[in-house]
Amino acid sequence: MKTIAHFGLAAGTLAALLGAGPPATKKLSIVATTPDLAALVREIGGDAVEVKALAKPTEDPHYVDAKPSHIVTLNRADVLIEGGAELELGWLPPLLENTRNGRIAAGSPGRIVASEGIRMLEIPATFDRSKGDVHPFGNPHFLLDPVNVKVIASRIAEHLALVDPKEASVFQANLKTFDAALGVKLAQWQKLLAPYHGTRIVTYHKDFVYLAERFGLEIVETLEPKPGIAPSPAHLAKVIATMKSTQAHVILVQPYQNRKTAETVARQTGAVVLDVGQQPGAVKNTDSYFQLMDYMVGTLASAFRGPK
Ligand SMILES: [Zn+2]
Repeated sequence: MKTIAHFGLAAGTLAALLGAGPPATKKLSIVATTPDLAALVREIGGDAVEVKALAKPTEDPHYVDAKPSHIVTLNRADVLIEGGAELELGWLPPLLENTRNGRIAAGSPGRIVASEGIRMLEIPATFDRSKGDVHPFGNPHFLLDPVNVKVIASRIAEHLALVDPKEASVFQANLKTFDAALGVKLAQWQKLLAPYHGTRIVTYHKDFVYLAERFGLEIVETLEPKPGIAPSPAHLAKVIATMKSTQAHVILVQPYQNRKTAETVARQTGAVVLDVGQQPGAVKNTDSYFQLMDYMVGTLASAFRGPK
């Protein structure tokens, strides 16, 4: 893959010098807002694409540090894939305002919005952005449900085929392979977590609701009182009481969330704090979607099993 990438770059440079259009060997340049979307695009695009994520695996997808280099990256992109449902509201629109690239304009084949076609959970009846709410169109953390991933993978293949028709059959073949593997994996993950159906857990943010729904876990509280609002002592007291009355013994925390708060709550409830990055690469050796989910499901299952 690396040698082809090098060849693609050289050919591109030559074409630019000659004033010609993109050469047949040029790889599609794809930008994903977050590493999880980037990982999916790599599965479907294979060797025909080069993929870059704007957010780091350890960054909160709601609050990414927007940099001038991101504008350069977006200007060069053939395709942009975003989560949508306002996941990236705080940082992607300002970057795009400074980008001059019609290939990734809204509504063009080069723009993929992952949330379109997803059955969104937790669409709020009332919403107050002034109070810090960040999920107006429902919960945008839907990639931990493999069934959603299947939908998104298929849409990625459709879009890539429109942007690069000569590779359409490759994208279709990659999709077929990915779908088959996903089916096998989903059955394994469900089997691993089946004994723990109904297990109560606590999360920091509302970022595991799709995982919980798919695998039959029950999220009894979040350390944040509302998505995007920092935990308060009064709210944490309520969380502790709920955890005691519901026998919830596991708190999930991502790298960019306040682990100290989780530890404080864990001390008072006898719970364990689990470090589970939702983004590929946040935890070592979780660069693909399958590795990420293997780690996630394995970590949960061993925590639920408890000490031997
Ligand atoms: Zn969120």
